[in-house]
Order: sequence, then structure tokens, then C-alpha cells
Amino acid sequence: MRNIRIVGAGQSGLQLALSLQAQGHQVSLSSNRSAEDIAHGKVMSSQCMFHTALQAERELGLNFWEAECPPVEGISLTVPHPAELGQKALAWSHRLDHPAQSVDQRLKIPGWMDAFRRRGGQILEHEATVDDLEAWSLSHDLVIVAAGKGAIAQLFERDARRSPFDKPQRALALTYVQGMRAREDYSAVDFNLIPGVGEYFVFPALSTSGPCHIMVFEGVPGGPMDCWGDVQGPAAHLARSREILARYLPWEAARCAHIELTDANGILSGRFAPTVRHPVGRLPSGRVVMGLGDAVLLNDPITGQGSNNAAKFARVVDQALAARGEQALDAGFIQSCFDSFWAYASHVVDWTNAMLMPPPDHVMAVLQACARHPAAARRFVNGFDDPRDYAGFLMDPERARAYLATLEPALA
Ligand SMILES: Cc1cc2nc3c(=O)[nH]c(=O)nc-3n(C[C@H](O)[C@H](O)[C@H](O)COP(=O)(O)OP(=O)(O)OC[C@H]3O[C@@H](n4cnc5c(N)ncnc54)[C@H](O)[C@@H]3O)c2cc1C
Repeated sequence: MRNIRIVGAGQSGLQLALSLQAQGHQVSLSSNRSAEDIAHGKVMSSQCMFHTALQAERELGLNFWEAECPPVEGISLTVPHPAELGQKALAWSHRLDHPAQSVDQRLKIPGWMDAFRRRGGQILEHEATVDDLEAWSLSHDLVIVAAGKGAIAQLFERDARRSPFDKPQRALALTYVQGMRAREDYSAVDFNLIPGVGEYFVFPALSTSGPCHIMVFEGVPGGPMDCWGDVQGPAAHLARSREILARYLPWEAARCAHIELTDANGILSGRFAPTVRHPVGRLPSGRVVMGLGDAVLLNDPITGQGSNNAAKFARVVDQALAARGEQALDAGFIQSCFDSFWAYASHVVDWTNAMLMPPPDHVMAVLQACARHPAAARRFVNGFDDPRDYAGFLMDPERARAYLATLEPALA
């Protein structure tokens, strides 16, 4: 059995800690925030997770909130008419093959921390430093840094080849609300794409106070939805959220006549540059540590993939550890774990980064075809669960054309 230290109690670090603990490894965790701090702090994410990532949690017996959490049964896409306010240029929706779910991390993480402790795990409440990593790398078989956007992740060198952006591509905001009118047919992520302005999406979730809706705003930097800098306090944040909807998306504003914040901490605004880092972190001594989750694979939330990636990446690592036997957990092991995850995650990164750019003609043609062809809409929405599929019909102009020709031979 191995002796493993994990830094960071988020989706990736804590899920991995719990699964390694269940396999009988000696696992210790460091968190710079207590369960109490997290439960009573600000929201951190919209954390919508699709079927495969939810299955990872189910297989590990970590789906504690599944029965209470409202399902997200489909995805809709709307593009407002560029000239006529209140009109839609494009609108369609389709059910997911399996529902998605979003459990507020303020509920999930403290709940998982409690489970880890009850099963005998130790959590050191402490901001880990490079000196700590040095000491732990001597006393442990492997040190894993799953510190998200924490400063310590800078230990991992940025991979410029895989990181096309060096600046934030969206001004982000979250607003957690109660009282939103439900959709009529089935629950969904309602994704609105406002060309040149940004994106707004909304879906049901479970928060600390019960079921809610999470509103996610993605404003193009410098544009009219990059508008959170002067907002002071929760009431003003909610008011700004409403103003955006009234101005650009009146059908979404109409659902919000009776909304109120879930709590004063149900708001967030910020921005960051999407970044891929090298997974082997070299300490000043030359010893190595492993990067996991957002620490090395930080995507813009536009496609809702970060928690999904974190869950899948953690699963790859725990399976690789099981297969490793007694061999050393060295730089070669770290790199091979990352490489096997990258075979999947490169598709997520490519698609997510593409969504941050104005959609090219072939992408618009596929999105328009989804309105006419339920099979295309079904394929598109289920790509959120496994974005590798987009390589076959969306990302590449030739393949998109070939796919469209199968749908509408007359137009080919
Ligand atoms: C606005 C927004 C919306 C999002 N929406 C979605 C979505 O709908 N679907 C989705 O899949 N993803 C979404 N994400 C992304 C998702 O939340 C993250 O990708 C995911 O939480 C990453 O998990 P992680 O374990 O890698 O890191 P984190 O969840 O960030 O956890 C890292 C932990 O490490 C701690 N830490 C940091 N430094 C140290 C240190 N030195 N010592 C000890 N502890 C430390 C942090 O406090 C934190 O608790 C969203 C993100 C944002 C910002």
C-alpha cells in the first residue's frame, strides 16, 4: 500500500483521496480552507456534471446528494435575432441520453471531507508551500497537487503549445437563485449565445438551501457583459443579472420575475486565462510532484467541463496507481497518467477554446442543422458528456460538411 499526500480538497483531490482511501492506501490531505469555511463561503462554480463523471462518483459511492438534486434532462441553444429584440434567430433543444446534475461545491466538498475523516483520513488545514512539498516528497510515495487556481499551481510550467490564450477570454459571473420559473417540457441547461457580447446559461441545481437555479454569465472582455467591476454587494449583483437578461434575452428575463438569491454568498465574479500546464512539477531539490485537475488543466467554464475533467482525471490516476503495482511513482508515472488523460482531454480543450472564438461558418451550419434534425441535436447535446465526438462532425470544416451531407443530401 502506498503513502500519498494530496494538496487541495476540491473535486479532483478529494475524489481521488476518497477512492485511494477505499483501496487501502494511506492518504493524507491538505486544505487551505476548513469544511466550515467552504460551507459558509462564496459559491465557486456552477459544477454541472454529465453522465460519465457522475458515474465515476456513483462507482465510488460518493453520490450522496443524487436523490435530492434536481436532474438536468436536456440542453437548449438559443441565438437572439441580431436586430429585433425579443426574437430568436435560432432556437432548439434536445434531451440528454442521461441526466446531468449540479451539487453546490459548498455542500459536496464539506460532505466529502466529513466522509474522508469518518473513514480515518487526516486533513491538515494549512496553505501548503513549496517547502511542505519538499518535506512530503521525502516522506511519501507520491505528492499530488490538486490546488485548482491556487498560487502553488504555478510550480507546474505552463505548456505554451497547448495554451493558445495568455489572457482571460471571458468576464465570468455566477448568480444562484430561487424562484425561477421552470421550463415547460423538461429541465435543461438553457444556453444563449449572444454574438459579440457573450453567453448566458442557466440550469437547476442543489444548493445549501435546497433546489435552485444557477445563472452563468460569460461576457466578452471589454464588451457590454463585462460589467461586474462596479457591482457592490449581493443586491446589486442580482440587479445586474436581471439587467443583462432584460437587455439581451427577454425570454430568460420573463422566467425571473420572482427570483431571489439563495443566500448572500450565492454570487461570484472574476476571470482567468485558460491554461494547460506540464503535469510533472519539479521542486528545487529536483524531486517531483504530480499536478491534478485545474492545477494543470484549467478551462474556461463556457462548456461546463472543469468538474467533469477533474472527476475523470482523478479516476485515471486511481486506476493507474492500481495497475502500477510496486513500481516507483516517479516522473515517468506522472507523465504517463497525464498522457492517457490528455488523449481524452485534448478534445475538451480544443472544443472549449473554439467556443471562446466567434463560431466559424461550419459550426453555425451544424448548429442550424440541429434545429431541423433531432438526430443532430441529440448528437450535439450528448457531446457535453464526451466531447471527443465533436472531432467527427463539428470541429473540422470538412467533417462538418460531410456530416451535414448525410443529414441533407439535397444540400450537399
Ligand atoms: C464560474 C465557474 C463556473 C463553472 N462551471 C462549471 C460547470 O458547470 N461544470 C464543470 O464541470 N465545471 C465548472 N467549473 C469548473 C470547476 O469548478 C473546476 O474545474 C473544478 O472545481 C476543479 O476542481 P479541482 O479539484 O481541480 O480544483 P478546485 O475545485 O479549485 O479545488 C482546489 C482546492 O485546493 C485548495 N488550495 C489551493 N491552494 C492550496 C494550498 N496551497 N494548500 C492547500 N489547499 C489549497 C483550494 O482552496 C480549493 O479548495 C466552473 C468554474 C467557474 C469558475
